[in-house]
Amino acid sequence: MNRIGIYYAYWAQDWIVDMLPYVDRAADLGFDQLEVHAGAVARLDAAGRAALRDRAAARGLALSYCIGLTREYDVAAADAAVRAAGIAWLEQIIRAVGEMGGGSVGGIIYSAWPEQMPAGMLDKRPALERSIASLRRVAPLAESLGVLLNVEVVNRFEQYLLNTSAEAIAYVREVDSPNVRLMLDTFHLNIEEDSIGAAIVAAGPLLGHFHIGETNRLPPGRGRIPWAEVVAALRQIDYRGAIVMEPFVQVGGEVGRDIRVYRDLRAGRDLDAEARAALAFTRAALA
Ligand code: MN
Repeated sequence: MNRIGIYYAYWAQDWIVDMLPYVDRAADLGFDQLEVHAGAVARLDAAGRAALRDRAAARGLALSYCIGLTREYDVAAADAAVRAAGIAWLEQIIRAVGEMGGGSVGGIIYSAWPEQMPAGMLDKRPALERSIASLRRVAPLAESLGVLLNVEVVNRFEQYLLNTSAEAIAYVREVDSPNVRLMLDTFHLNIEEDSIGAAIVAAGPLLGHFHIGETNRLPPGRGRIPWAEVVAALRQIDYRGAIVMEPFVQVGGEVGRDIRVYRDLRAGRDLDAEARAALAFTRAALA
């Protein structure tokens, strides 16, 4: 059975916040997993990480980690100093997650987020090659610490390097580390792929992590993602990894700004009740 998780930023306004309260919140709602901000965990001291790890263990909750690297840490940047800073930051994150017991670090860990193709760039291949070289640099550390690096395929309005499953498959094959795989997200798949099911099937054993959400980032079950097609594809490739919902419904703060939530999508509904309903919907869809 797949573990079903939720991303803390459903509730949060800012990216770097205390993750501890979300452990209890997700566990109380019945989730198997909580996804937290990788950078927030890397910025904690050892005692802070131990407290988070122990609380999650006490509540029977698995943890996963997500981040979109900011521009100063762009591991695909043309500027070698920026790439070096990004590699050092990724290594700090990998060590921190290793200390947490390992697990998945996913997101835009291969460039900056949000980011568009630089003016004047016509061919993204050189940027991809710089990114691949950076991931190759950090992969051995991830392998030694039991950390999985999952590059997230996102839509064109958020990033320009990996917009389709096919692009990420080629990228992961070039990095060529057992600990570097790709992650897909139904919100992004809906925008970019010819076929959502075929994109998932193509990833096959390289699919390391999976995000779910509706076309406007409402919780699963509130929109028109073809869930039967998604589930059939995950079954076809025998995907056993985590499935983490990533709804965003609130205006405001860094989260609302970066996700571009420009209207209140809560529709007067209670956030926790909605999360509980989305969890039930997801479990039923997978059953
Ligand atoms: Mn996602």
